[in-house]
Amino acid sequence: MILPIYIYGSSVLKQKALEITPDYPNLDQLIKDMWETMYYADGVGLAAPQIGLSIRMFVVDGKDLSEDRPELKDFKRLVINPRLLEESQETVVYQEGCLSVPKLYADVERPISVKLAYLNEKFEPVEEWFHGMAARMVQHEFSHLEGELFVDRLPPIRKKMIQGKLHAMARGEVKTFYKTKIVQ
Ligand SMILES: [Zn+2]
Repeated sequence: MILPIYIYGSSVLKQKALEITPDYPNLDQLIKDMWETMYYADGVGLAAPQIGLSIRMFVVDGKDLSEDRPELKDFKRLVINPRLLEESQETVVYQEGCLSVPKLYADVERPISVKLAYLNEKFEPVEEWFHGMAARMVQHEFSHLEGELFVDRLPPIRKKMIQGKLHAMARGEVKTFYKTKIVQ
């Protein structure tokens, strides 16, 4: 089932999400719905808070980016209860966007590599290093679980410049082809 995506201005996007256990209600269906919602909206990642659930889970699939970045062709993960173990000193700037912050893109600086500990779909523990664009994707989604959006990482002057757009977004004035929701 395709779910509505919560938009900037929604309080769930600002909350630190909670860990889940394998008996979380309807988990299999929820995971299916997250994939379906992400693909429908043409996203490369989706975190549970973006569908209104403050739980620590996200999905990423780099296939749509693999024309320019072949290493992402098979980069597809379901990540449950992630913890950030390590991050590189070296950082890189990439332009980011977000299904919850539609039609707005900005350069964001983040570490070039990160190591996460997480649980996979079978709730087996995994420790994995991510590099380059894969690292960028998981860090963007991990931030959602910490209650942070990419626009929160912008320098104050840059954030001031987009303030008008963000206010319009929070009022529901930015139209998208996918279903959205704002719950303050
Ligand atoms: Zn996002």
